[in-house]
Amino acid sequence: MAPPPPPPHTGDHRFPCDQCGADLRFDAGADRLVCDFCGNTQPLPELDGDLRELPYEPGQATRLPEDALENVSVSPCPNCGAQVQFTGADHATECPFCATPVVSHTGEMRHIKPQGVVPFALDEKAAKQAMTNWLGRLWFAPNGLQDYARKGRTMDGVYVPYWTFDADTASAYSGERGDVYYVSRTVRTNGKTRTVRERRVRWSPARGRVARAFDDVLVLASKSLPKKFTDALAPWTLGDLKPYAPEFLSGFRAEAYTVELDDGFIEARQIMDRIIAQDIRRDIGGDEQRIHNVDTRVWDETFKHILLPVWVAAYKFRGKTYRFVVNGQTGAVQGERPYSPWKIALAVLGAAVVAGAIAVAVQYAK
Ligand SMILES: [Zn+2]
Ligand SMILES: [Zn+2]
Repeated sequence: MAPPPPPPHTGDHRFPCDQCGADLRFDAGADRLVCDFCGNTQPLPELDGDLRELPYEPGQATRLPEDALENVSVSPCPNCGAQVQFTGADHATECPFCATPVVSHTGEMRHIKPQGVVPFALDEKAAKQAMTNWLGRLWFAPNGLQDYARKGRTMDGVYVPYWTFDADTASAYSGERGDVYYVSRTVRTNGKTRTVRERRVRWSPARGRVARAFDDVLVLASKSLPKKFTDALAPWTLGDLKPYAPEFLSGFRAEAYTVELDDGFIEARQIMDRIIAQDIRRDIGGDEQRIHNVDTRVWDETFKHILLPVWVAAYKFRGKTYRFVVNGQTGAVQGERPYSPWKIALAVLGAAVVAGAIAVAVQYAK
């Protein structure tokens, strides 16, 4: 008798069509799976319960309960460091973030299982349309680039990993409140006297307390996309978060997190501190504020690992990698683009010809 097959990786789910056996994929914008071969559709399974928050303690990531962890097979990108998860029968050979060849299923990671996912609302067609519109406004882009968008190379739907943190905070502060007042002064210049108003600030000591309960402070858990891209994709509507189910990932890719939980929390605390500083300034009041000291107590910290939907097109153009990203929930676009030196030169030349013609015309008019 053959030995029993090894247990499957939990991150390697496949959902075969019950009519033809092909792999089903999650149908963006619809609550169902669809078969591209026979058109069969299947509803998503009943998603149970609410989104679970896990308590956060520094250094605890390895001591989480067994059911909060999973093994996934990943393909590390040798260029940008992304840990790309390929789901089902997907054996893509390029990293979706930088178009570098990768070898499928070469590594394995044990990591924290996602608790929530915002499913793709935009399908590939809508994402491409958003990208084409964005490119169409870029007159200086080289022709090859616009062709690229029009002829429609594929885009990759990638679930990008994030951490979100909740925490209660209370802060005691000391600082100064500045109140603006004006004084009138007489000045003499060139033998004439006149009155000027001068702005001054009266500083007085201030101290007090502010408190805030933070909900879903969002931190990117990956370094493969530049932060300026992913920041520009915000805002996300986290009200659309669904409890994690592998069905949402079928037909898409997922990136495994490469920013560890503790590093994510450090960044979340910095975000919280900036918001607390705003609260303190408002609490001090007056026209200007100085903050000298803040003592913040934090408790009831919890976290979630979530996946957010991003359409990515990475391509090489004259040896350089360029990327477009489209928010798979809202359609917001962000990207890098090369400039065509020819088009810019022509524009400059055109402007010079016009300027020259005007100069000549002016000459003759005299
Ligand atoms: Zn089928
Ligand atoms: Zn890469």
